[in-house]
Amino acid sequence: QGGARIPFIAGNWKMNLDHLQAIAFVQKLAWALADAKHDFADAEVAVFPPFTDLRSVQTLVTADSLPIGYGAQDVSAHDSGAYTGEISGAFLAQLDCAYAIIGHSERRTLHGETDADVNSKVLAAHRHGIVPVVCVGETADDLEAHGPSAVPVAQLRAALDGVDGSKGLVVAYEPVWAIGSGQAAIPEQAEQVCAALRALIGELLGDEAATATRILYGGSVTAANIASFLREPNVDGALVGGASLDIDEFSSIVRFKK
Ligand code: PGA
Repeated sequence: QGGARIPFIAGNWKMNLDHLQAIAFVQKLAWALADAKHDFADAEVAVFPPFTDLRSVQTLVTADSLPIGYGAQDVSAHDSGAYTGEISGAFLAQLDCAYAIIGHSERRTLHGETDADVNSKVLAAHRHGIVPVVCVGETADDLEAHGPSAVPVAQLRAALDGVDGSKGLVVAYEPVWAIGSGQAAIPEQAEQVCAALRALIGELLGDEAATATRILYGGSVTAANIASFLREPNVDGALVGGASLDIDEFSSIVRFKK
């Protein structure tokens, strides 16, 4: 198990880098990765810039055929209409976004997104051929009260309600207490939760989806700890926040050696 899934390193920029900075950053990242081509040949790399950067990133990646994918940090549950401030999956599909992050803990806590909202957004992404990167994870209180797996498993169960497993899925396990804290989970704990999430995908979407779905770890991932996570059989990559904004650090993460 694990060998068939191509490792996925995803950079969540959050609300950083405007479109001009994004162009310079992606260009430099491509150079850094080209230097390391030999090592990173079998990892997939994608960046998740703010919405206002996506057109610029698309133009650059397409014009120069860069080996860097990109996606959005969110998607509306609705396809069009009177939803001020929302961004439709149809618009993201027009920009060739392969992915959209859905249900990041910052959306859940700062913007009140519920499990039901996350589920609607997953279905919306699928309506437009976008692969959702569904984020789940427990808070420090959840960890103490229920152990590590219960809350992420319940969140994923809700997120996948009515979902067609053949439409593509990435899951990111991000313990809330590990995000931006400098205190990553221990790899064995990440493995335990990722294994439980994979078992749930098997139960809900079938064995094929369980085998194909990349499950990422996220929360204070750095060049120094990436290998310890990727050594685990059910951890297929990382969702990287802070360290994705530093070209040397992020390209070193992509160049992980098991
Ligand atoms: P971090 O963020 O790598 O800065 O901890 C991860 C995330 O929020 O996706």
